Amino acid sequence: MKAPTKYKLFLILLLLFSFSYELMGQEGVSVKLKCIVLDPGHGGKDYGCISRDKKYNEKTIVLSVAKKLGNMIEKNHPDVKVVYTRKTDVFIPLAQRAEIANKNKADLFLSIHVNSTAGTSAAHGTETFTMGNHVSSSNFELSKRENSVILMEDDYTTKYEGFNPDSPESYIIFSLLQNAYSEQSIKFAQLIQEQFHLGPIKYNRGVKQAGFLVLKNTTMPSVLTELGFISNPDDLKTLTSENGQDKMARRLYDAFLLYKQDLEDNGSKEEMKEDDKEEMKEDVQEEVKEEIKEDVKAEVKSEIKENVKENVKENIKENVKEEIKEVAEVTYHIQILSVGKQLKRNAPDLKGESGAQFVQEGRLYKYYLGKYSTREAAVKDLERVRRKFKGAFVISIRDGQIVR
Ligand SMILES: [Zn+2]
Repeated sequence: MKAPTKYKLFLILLLLFSFSYELMGQEGVSVKLKCIVLDPGHGGKDYGCISRDKKYNEKTIVLSVAKKLGNMIEKNHPDVKVVYTRKTDVFIPLAQRAEIANKNKADLFLSIHVNSTAGTSAAHGTETFTMGNHVSSSNFELSKRENSVILMEDDYTTKYEGFNPDSPESYIIFSLLQNAYSEQSIKFAQLIQEQFHLGPIKYNRGVKQAGFLVLKNTTMPSVLTELGFISNPDDLKTLTSENGQDKMARRLYDAFLLYKQDLEDNGSKEEMKEDDKEEMKEDVQEEVKEEIKEDVKAEVKSEIKENVKENVKENIKENVKEEIKEVAEVTYHIQILSVGKQLKRNAPDLKGESGAQFVQEGRLYKYYLGKYSTREAAVKDLERVRRKFKGAFVISIRDGQIVR
C-alpha cells in the first residue's frame, strides 16, 4: 500500500477532528453500557502462543478467563448482554470478530490474549492495547504476530484489502484510524492495567497503541489485553491455575465495572450495586490484609533478629567473662614433692613445711608451697626453695588442677 501524501493526511485528520468534535457535543447525555463483546483470541487450528513444554496454549487460557469474566458480568449485571466471539474451541477469522461486535451494537469490545517472547523467559507482566500505530518495534512485533492469524484464513488478501501482516507499510492505515472511540478505549485500557497491577500478575507494562486488525473495524471502544507471558514461568503458573484465572477475570471484571460506572455517571449517577461494592470491598480488604501480613512478617523477622542478636551477645559476653575469670584464676606455686600417699603435717618428707598443700593426680600427691599470681614471682622464690627441695619447680594450678 502506498503511503498517502502529507496533504491527504492533513485532510483526513481534519475530517477526523470534526467527527470527534461532533461526538464530544453529545456529552452529558446519559449513556448505558448494555452490551459487551468478549473476544477470546485464537481458537481451533490457531493455538496462539504455546508454552515451552508445549503443555499449555493461549487459546485455552483466554477462553477460560473470558468465560469466567462473562459469568461474573451476567451474574451481577443481568441488564448487560454478554456476547462471545467464540465460546468453544473454534477458529474465527479476525474480521468476523469485529462483525459480531458491530452487529450486536456492543458498547465495549474486549479482546483477550496471552503474550510470549522467543528466546528469553524474562519478559513478564500485563499490557493492554488500543488501536493505533505502533511506536516501538516490540509493539510492531506483537501486532504482527496477532495479525498473522489471517494467513490461516482462505481468502485473506481480498477480505483484508491487501493487508500484509508482515509489512510495516500496511500499518500506516492505523495511524489514520485513530477513531472517535480512542479516548474511551484508552480509559478502559488504563482501568484494566490499574486493576491488573493489584495482582496476581502485578508487573504493569502499560497502556500502548498498536495496529491490531481485530480492533480496526469495531465501531465502539475496544481494547486488546495481554494477560501475561506464557514464556515466563511465574506468569505461566498464574495463567494456568484455576485460582490465577479467577483472579485475572476478577481484575477484568472490576475494570469493566469502573468503566461502566464512569460512563453511566455522566449526568444520572446510578449507585454502585451493593454486591459489587461488597465484592470490591472484599478485594481491597484482602489486598490490605496481604500487605499488613507482609509488614508484620518483616517486623517479626527484625524483632527475632534483634532478640537473637541480644542472646548471642549475652552468650558471648558470659563466655568471655568466664574465660577472663578462668585466666585470672590461674595461680603459680612451687612443687616440692610427689608421693604415692597423703602425708601427715609433720611427716619428715615435708622437712618442717607443715603448711604445704597438695593436688591429687591419680595415685600421686603433689605437694607444693606458696601462691603467686605470676610465673615470674614464683621463679624468684624457686632458688630459695630448692635449697631445701632440690628438684622443686614451678607449676600452675587452675580450678584445683595442675595446668600444663
Ligand atoms: Zn494472541
